[in-house]
Amino acid sequence: SLKSVFLGVGSNLGVRRETLRAAVEKLREDPAVRVGRISSVYATKPVGVAEQPDFLNLVVEIATTHSPLELLAVTQRIEHALGRVRQERWGARTIDLDVLWYEGTRSEDATLTLPHPRAKERSFVLTPWAEIAPELKLDGETVSARAKQVGAGGVVRVSAWERDSGAP
Ligand code: ATP
Ligand code: CA
Ligand code: CA
Repeated sequence: SLKSVFLGVGSNLGVRRETLRAAVEKLREDPAVRVGRISSVYATKPVGVAEQPDFLNLVVEIATTHSPLELLAVTQRIEHALGRVRQERWGARTIDLDVLWYEGTRSEDATLTLPHPRAKERSFVLTPWAEIAPELKLDGETVSARAKQVGAGGVVRVSAWERDSGAP
């Protein structure tokens, strides 16, 4: 059946804005994915490993018939296709696609933990997410309320998605 899903997308190496655009384009090319709302693009100071370029981040809503694990495989194929090579966790990368939330699914499995276990601590996820899904409930708390609690420290809105993405 068709499920609603939110993906977090980030890039901090190379032509970051173009890479975000290409990632959304690849999602659109998947016949089992319908792209919905897309947040603005935000610039974000990297978390974890310092000494790397700022991230550009956005959150995109999709509707999909893929199962959670199929969708994880799809996002990993897109990462690979867009040249993600570096394996270091939290290190710099051309592209990172995280499954933030998959309708009706909770999982403690390390291969795919749902909702994404660190999403609700991260302003670079919550700030764009609150733009497109303020009322969505995470453990009984809305994305908007959670975003306000965590604050927008270090996360700056750069542009609307449509403005310079070349997206249809
Ligand atoms: P973080 O998960 O803290 O944002 P990261 O995105 O840098 O860190 P990766 O190296 O991209 O981490 O992913 C490591 C592993 O996380 C992946 O191989 C994947 O199997 C697993 N994983 C678990 N839950 C999720 C999820 N909700 N979305 C994407 N990957 C997940
Ligand atoms: Ca991530
Ligand atoms: Ca990831």
